Amino acid sequence: MDEPEGQMMIISAECWQCDKPMLIALIGDNAGNLYGGPEGFSNEEVSLAEEHGVLLKTIFSKTSEETYLANVCKECGAFVGQFFFFAHYYTPALYGHYKYLRVSN
Ligand SMILES: [Zn+2]
Repeated sequence: MDEPEGQMMIISAECWQCDKPMLIALIGDNAGNLYGGPEGFSNEEVSLAEEHGVLLKTIFSKTSEETYLANVCKECGAFVGQFFFFAHYYTPALYGHYKYLRVSN
């Protein structure tokens, strides 16, 4: 198994579509290096995220024409695509706009 280069963050944010509370799992460090979202998670990382209440589903992205695992809103079913992470959730979390947990298995 490859060691993740950053730790998993679970960000308490809101859905970009319906504004309801939504948990976002991703791998990133505290220095602004985002290593990726659920599309690159190992089975252990998927389990870890789900244990913390994150909803992950395999989705089809029309933007990239790919099928991958993504964070999904429990309320409306919207998913957070790969290109959304940085601007919408990761950077604001680092700057204190969203609360987040650091989790590891
Ligand atoms: Zn939603």
